[in-house]
Amino acid sequence: MDTTKLFEAALGVMSPWRVVGIEFEAGAKDGRGRLDIRLDFERGGELPCPECKKPCKAHDTDEQTWRHLNFFEHETYLVARTPRVKCEKHGVLKVEVPWARPGSGFTLLFEAYMMALAPEIPMAVLARMVGEHDTRLWRVVKHHVADARTRVDMSEVSSVVVDETSRAKRHSYVSLFLEPKKLDEDGEVTSDARVLFVTNGRSHETFQAFVSDLATHGGKATNVKDVCMDMSPAFQRGAAEALPWAAVTYDRFHVMKLVSFALDEARRREHEARPELRRSRYLWLSNPSNLSSSQREKLDTLSATNLLTAKAYQMRLNLQALWDRRKPARAATYLRRWCNWVLRVAKRPKDPAETWVLEAMHRTALTLRDNSHGILNYFRLRMTSGVIESVNSLAQAARARARGYRNADTFITMIYLIASRLRFDLPALTHSR
Ligand SMILES: [Zn+2]
Repeated sequence: MDTTKLFEAALGVMSPWRVVGIEFEAGAKDGRGRLDIRLDFERGGELPCPECKKPCKAHDTDEQTWRHLNFFEHETYLVARTPRVKCEKHGVLKVEVPWARPGSGFTLLFEAYMMALAPEIPMAVLARMVGEHDTRLWRVVKHHVADARTRVDMSEVSSVVVDETSRAKRHSYVSLFLEPKKLDEDGEVTSDARVLFVTNGRSHETFQAFVSDLATHGGKATNVKDVCMDMSPAFQRGAAEALPWAAVTYDRFHVMKLVSFALDEARRREHEARPELRRSRYLWLSNPSNLSSSQREKLDTLSATNLLTAKAYQMRLNLQALWDRRKPARAATYLRRWCNWVLRVAKRPKDPAETWVLEAMHRTALTLRDNSHGILNYFRLRMTSGVIESVNSLAQAARARARGYRNADTFITMIYLIASRLRFDLPALTHSR
């Protein structure tokens, strides 16, 4: 087999295309060279019109170059005279070559390689690795993510989890709509959780944007029977307006976050009068099993005092136990008792000069009482809060991959790339064409 035939086989080049030459230029200093693989179409060969696929004669040609996968450490390019064909119906048009998509300066295999690495490696690093400008790589990633999203099927979506995450330190937020994992009757996972839609902001309008995106992917708002989210007024309004057929479940993770916030607020307010609270924030807010024995000892000592912060800590621990209830009716009774107890113990002090240390806890109990229906839906549906907890690690990964790129677009693209389980229209990297 001569070299050109070998490369034809390796590249999967098919008639009328063939390899006509290999040029290698040794690298100047670091040994890295450049390999040009020249392709041409057979003289007199006919090529399909890009519109109607009818074979046509070449009209004229134009030399083009595509970056290909490295050949060992050497940068490799495909170079070809690409013809324009003259179709009777469609006029003069540039033909599509089988190894690249129109307008791209990379071969499909090179793009497949980029798409395989992009979820794993920060884009700036990847750009340096392959010696290409990062804006060119972003263009490839954005193209394939947008293209793959057009094929996403949402026709079976009936449960949605909504959460927000910040994309930068400047408090700019995106809202994520996810489908939780699906289980069959035996509790086996039939499909994993996936991100359905991501959009800028965290207003009620994000829900309307989700519903239109759902519709363009074959889904129906009327099919969505459950939505799991936090208790923010914006999300409550959004769900009521855009998903009125869905039962709302307030996520367990966010419920506990509210109570933890109220506990921390109590510690902050009591701190001035009670110096023993100094540097105790971590003790109160951590999971007890994460504390060292000396930390736990200190916490036990503080808990045994008459501190209102210790009271607030008890309130948090007691609410934590709510989630262990098995029966919905038991959980309802438990939550009602918890709210009544907190509202009684945490009420405003009679003396107006006294600091209302437990004000935030009091407010939280009112919020939980007002939203108890949504909180108790957890016991009916057992909608996993694992999805929401994993949003944070997902966002962290997306931020790391898109680091240095300030616009929301790149962050959103990365989230889709990492967590939407998209199928790209690209050749497999294990060469089997
Ligand atoms: Zn045509």
